[in-house]
Formats: sequence, C-alpha cells, structure tokens
Amino acid sequence: MSTLRDTLRELASTLRDRPDEIVLDIGASGELLVARIRLIATLLLMLAPLLNLASGGGMADTVAGLVGTGLGAMLAWIWLILARRKRRYAWLPFVTSASDISMETLVIVLIAATQSPAASLNTVIVWSCYPLSIFATALRNDGRVTLLAGLLAMAQYGLIAWYFLAGLAPGEVLSSPDYGVVSVSLQLQRMVLLLIATLLTAVVVYRIQRLVLLSGTDTLTGLPNRSWLMHRVPRLLESAQREQRSVALAIIDLDHFKRINDRHGHPVGDRALRHVVAVLDDALADGETLMRVGGEEFVLILPHSMGPAWERMEALRQRVADTPLQLDDAETGGRPGGERLSITLSAGLASFPADGADVSTLLKRADQRLIVAKRGGRNRVVARA
Ligand code: GH3
Ligand code: MG
Ligand code: MG
Repeated sequence: MSTLRDTLRELASTLRDRPDEIVLDIGASGELLVARIRLIATLLLMLAPLLNLASGGGMADTVAGLVGTGLGAMLAWIWLILARRKRRYAWLPFVTSASDISMETLVIVLIAATQSPAASLNTVIVWSCYPLSIFATALRNDGRVTLLAGLLAMAQYGLIAWYFLAGLAPGEVLSSPDYGVVSVSLQLQRMVLLLIATLLTAVVVYRIQRLVLLSGTDTLTGLPNRSWLMHRVPRLLESAQREQRSVALAIIDLDHFKRINDRHGHPVGDRALRHVVAVLDDALADGETLMRVGGEEFVLILPHSMGPAWERMEALRQRVADTPLQLDDAETGGRPGGERLSITLSAGLASFPADGADVSTLLKRADQRLIVAKRGGRNRVVARA
C-alpha cells in the first residue's frame, strides 16, 4: 500500500536522483521541443521594439530593444543547435533552464533600471514567465532540473524584492503611477506561488517517470520488456562502439512451452515462466540484462565477445535444465507427492559488431540460430550457423 510518506519519499528521490536512461531519452526530445518554442517566442519578441517604433516610440529605445531581443534569439538559436544533438551534452537541460530563469530576472532588473522598482516588482507578464519556465522543465523529465529552476527563480526574484523592499524607511512605500503600490504580502504570495509551481512540476515529473518505467516493464515477471529493448539496447551498442567493446545478444525461447500449458493449465504456465526468470535472474552477473520480449521469449545482453558469451549462455541453459519447478498437489490434479516439472530452453546468439551493427540485424541473426537450436533437438545454445 502506498502511503503519503512513501509518495513523499519517492518524490524526494525524483528531485535528487539521476533518472533512468529511457526517461532521459524522452527528456532529450522534450529539451528539443522547448528549444524550438523558445526560439519562436524570442523571434516574436523582436517584433515588440518594431511595433513600439511604429506607434511613435523613440529610435534609441527601439535599437536597445532590438539588440536585447536579438541577443535573446541568438542564445535560443544556440540552445536549439545543441538540443538537436540529443543527449550529447548532459548539462544542457540544467544550463538552458537556468538561463531561461536568469533571462527573466535580467528583464526585471532592466525594468527597475529604466522604468522604476515598482514597475519591476508589479509587472505580471514578466513575472509569469518564471512559473512557465518551471513548468517547461517537466518536458525534460528530470526532477533535478525542475528543482534547480524553481530554487533559482525563488532566489533571484526574492533577492530583487528584498533589495528594494528592505531599503524602505518605516511608512515609506514603493509605487509608480502605472503600476501602483508594491505590496509586501503580494510579493510573499508570489514566492509561495513559485514554490507551488516547483512542487507541482516535480509531481508531474514523478508521474511521467513512473509511467515510462511501467511501460518498459513486463507485469508478469517484472523484467524490462520489448520497449526497453528498442530504446535502451541501441544506446548500449553505441557506448560499446565508442569503447570498442564486444556485446553479445541471445534470444532465449522456452522449449515445448505449449505442452506445459496444455497439461497443467495456464496458471502453472505462468508460474513456470516466473520460475525460469527467477533462476536466470539469480545467476545474472553485472552488465548482463534479461528482457521478456514475447510470451516465452527473452533477450539477454551479455557484455562479452562470442566465445565467452556462448560459455555463459550454456551455463545458464544448464542451470535452468537442472532446476525443475516443484508443482504442488493441486497443480498436478490432486495426485499426491506433487511433481517436478523440468523446463528447458534453447538460445541463439549474435555478437556485436561481428554479426551486425544494429539491434534488428542482431535479433535476426540470433533468431536464425535459435531456429537451428530448435531443429537440432532443443535444450541447446547455438552461436554459429
Ligand atoms: P518450441 O519449443 O518450438 O518453442 O515450442 P513452444 O510450445 O514453446 O512454442 P510456441 O511459440 O508455439 O508456443 C509458445 C507458447 O507459450 C504459446 C503460449 O500458449 C505460451 N505462452 C506465451 N505467453 C504465455 C504466458 O504469459 N503465460 C502462459 N502460461 N503461457 C504463455
Ligand atoms: Mg516462442
Ligand atoms: Mg517456445
């Protein structure tokens, strides 16, 4: 049962820990989306000084406005170029979020310098960009980015408000004809709103992370599923390529599994599946990842070249064959003494980069060898065919 305390603890870990790789992959698409929106928004902002000129504004103001918004658009363009190289720069979402918040702060400071402190503290439009930037961090799927943006907004805006309000003599008020009187309680409410925006965004990030992880997890066995294979294994191959390492991929298929279902029923079939997964899982070493990619089909990633990978897979095959599932009386149709159900597996191996450079080629090669293993009598591992 999930309690409020569990939820808060999980929320805290969302804000603190590096998210899962799949979550970060999706976050990189979010970063690209935000980069595009940011560029369009800054280009639209460049229209404001021109409109100001058309409606009778001064030339100096227009040039200053164009230079300011032009620099903003240039920065947005740089962020877009970097965001296109998905996940090349791990620091990018942190830096772009911090830059968005700091740009908004810069505009508020400029309003204070060119108009009045009251105008800078009472503007609604510019201040609203803070919560918007905080919400936009949800698209990066990384609670640490949300926390950074939220804390930065509260610190920077809090500092500006404190700077102008703390210097007032008793009874003195900050005001401007256009923006009215600056209210201390309203400023405090703005700080509370920034805090709420940060927490709400963190909850959204937590939910997204949960959904992504659930969609990548098989419910019967708790193993990563095909979606994990398609998202994660290409990255694994990329890093193996960079580090010039070999990786082997095995497709494992349980032998005559239909017979188990037919003889003992589907629930025993399910239990047999979980049993095999438990036996394999128990034997897995660091860097070996098992996924359930179909009914009774699995993919195992082995961080080895073909020779050692075959030996490893062969040892796992042996272990499963030597560990039968103990059925209880009810499962054997009431016959006393139960029954030991032997389960065997066949596997086909493919090795990166020798057999192929991408997941689908490797899967195809491994599958061809799996067929050879089945035809050869099952309960065997085939690495060459
Ligand atoms: P082979 O040795 O050629 O692989 O024979 P097989 O019977 O294992 O092969 P086949 O792929 O034809 O059948 C797989 C069976 O696995 C079909 C299906 O009833 C069963 N199966 C698939 N998923 C599940 C599951 O989640 N639970 C149970 N109980 N059975 C499943
Ligand atoms: Mg099958
Ligand atoms: Mg089978």
